[in-house]
Amino acid sequence: MPKPKTAEIGKKIIYLQEVSSTNEYAKKIASEMPEGTVVIAKKQTKGKGRKNRRWASPEGGLWLSVILKPDVEAKDIPKIVFVGALAVVDTLAEFGIEAGIKWPNDVWVDNKKICGILTEGRLGEFVILGIGLNVNNDIPSELIGSATSMRLLLGRELNLDKVLWTLLGNLERWYKLIQERKFSIVMSAVKDKCFILGRWVEVINDESKVEGEVIDIAEDGTLIIQTSKGLMKIFYGDISLRLR
Ligand code: ADP
Repeated sequence: MPKPKTAEIGKKIIYLQEVSSTNEYAKKIASEMPEGTVVIAKKQTKGKGRKNRRWASPEGGLWLSVILKPDVEAKDIPKIVFVGALAVVDTLAEFGIEAGIKWPNDVWVDNKKICGILTEGRLGEFVILGIGLNVNNDIPSELIGSATSMRLLLGRELNLDKVLWTLLGNLERWYKLIQERKFSIVMSAVKDKCFILGRWVEVINDESKVEGEVIDIAEDGTLIIQTSKGLMKIFYGDISLRLR
């Protein structure tokens, strides 16, 4: 395995053959573990997305969770999801794949999802940054039209350790900016990489269903949409692109 190049993220790595969910495992040990500890599993039996939706995690993919203890105000914690998204986009670029961020928590290539990110935590204690990246794993048949992997895009098997260390290096770089409270650098990178900016979308969340044009991502990470009823600030939701 290549030598770790990171100072904090991945200084300690817990490798598991199989686990229900790396996020669940990481949550249980987070209090006793140093910041930057990574939990990684060959496969997850109950990988999850938001709202406990199933995240397919067969062998060959990168399924990991990073334990973070950010020294920032509660209002800045939601930005940690972008650390994951930006690090994945940079990692893919290093392997020759151009990817974009689908606000708030996915990375897509050519209209297909290649990576999902799930942050969970306990306020004032820790944040778990969970990343599921399709690398060499097979894509389940029901997701063939909507998901892709590095192997599918590049037509070859990747060295999973190499992808892992590239990702950890990029996570460290973006996370450092959060710790240093350089949020505007992070947010302008997010805007640069977010392919739904300027697009017509439908956003569904627990409170509402809204349609309109995405005109901005605010400094606090929220999505600004121009709807027929005026500007709306969206804190969370499921986004689908719409043709107009
Ligand atoms: P989103 O942020 O796109 O709403 P979620 O965080 O809810 O996604 O992730 C779960 C969804 O992602 C599932 O409902 C499924 O459609 C899709 N999915 C599950 N596993 C994978 C995978 N390995 N690769 C790409 N997409 C997946």
